[in-house]
Amino acid sequence: MGIERVEVYSVTLRYFEPFRIAPGSSEKSRNIVVRIVTDYGVEGWGEASPSKRVTGETVETVLEVLSRIAPRLIGMCPLRVEQNVEMMDRVVEGNPAAKAAIDTALHDILGKTAGKPLFMLLGGFRTQVLTDFTLSIKTPREMAADAVKAVEKGFRALKVKVGVNPSEDVERIRMVREAVGEGVEIRVDANEGWSPDQAVEVLNRVEKFRIRFVEQPVPAHDVKGLARVRRDSPIPVMADESVHSPSDALRLIREEAVDMINIKLAKSGGILKARKISDVAEAAGVSCMVGCMSESEIGIAAGAHLAAGVRNIEFADLDCDLLHADKLVKKGGVTVSGSMRLFPKGSGLGLEELDAEILGKPLAVYK
Ligand SMILES: [Mg+2]
Repeated sequence: MGIERVEVYSVTLRYFEPFRIAPGSSEKSRNIVVRIVTDYGVEGWGEASPSKRVTGETVETVLEVLSRIAPRLIGMCPLRVEQNVEMMDRVVEGNPAAKAAIDTALHDILGKTAGKPLFMLLGGFRTQVLTDFTLSIKTPREMAADAVKAVEKGFRALKVKVGVNPSEDVERIRMVREAVGEGVEIRVDANEGWSPDQAVEVLNRVEKFRIRFVEQPVPAHDVKGLARVRRDSPIPVMADESVHSPSDALRLIREEAVDMINIKLAKSGGILKARKISDVAEAAGVSCMVGCMSESEIGIAAGAHLAAGVRNIEFADLDCDLLHADKLVKKGGVTVSGSMRLFPKGSGLGLEELDAEILGKPLAVYK
């Protein structure tokens, strides 16, 4: 049994409204979707959601990397995921979003070949996953109103995006907490937006609003700054942009810079390496979250299966498909009920039908 064909598609997904975080704002995401077809009738889907800021990748670099990797997959056994991942790393360094698309499609095939939902093959620790809902940066009052709407929809955890202006950020967090009351978990994400001094100041001021953790308070490269925030902050510190690989995780743990790690498939290069990051973290007593860039339901399904499978992945931020007005997956995939992401009965990622118009024709076919 071997890989017969790799198809590469480009999709554009509009947000319901512009999505703003500390480094900038976006109105749509352009992602690359991969379909791997085997010679025994099973196919797998994967997705790359490149972020120039986080990994240096763009749609163009993903296409270029896939043009080098995909021809080498033809004839390979799709179930030998580690062997295929090793091949990708030999062909090109880095480029984790591009590799995540292939890794995800291989895992989809693995699940379908076994006839099981993927999360069962990844450990099967949970059967559903609680996700937060992300509040895009707006005025404090507008964010409080968005928070109330999300809680009315059933979300039990909110991620408050901050990192633009310390005193306004304190107001954002205060007004969201006051608007939703005590029963909702609040997480904060500064996306590298504060200096260590600003982070320590803000976090001490918002401690009384009961924040579960703060994500990436300072720039990704500033490991010493992150360690300092962790030491002087009353709120647990989660690394996101600072951790792409198992060795990044190990380094930050050694530097005593993290309490938690946000794993994203577009940073790790897919599910296989995401599990390795979680394993390194678990050995140090550091729990993990699975987050997202700007994936459609394909990438979100992959993240959710991973989060359900692995015990040490205690948190999930898997909501970006919910922020898109364009829906690539018409049937199947991971659904949402309140704050819970639920899995379909189907095997692999559980995707059943994609929107042919959004998917369009393949940009490239390798066979
Ligand atoms: Mg983050």
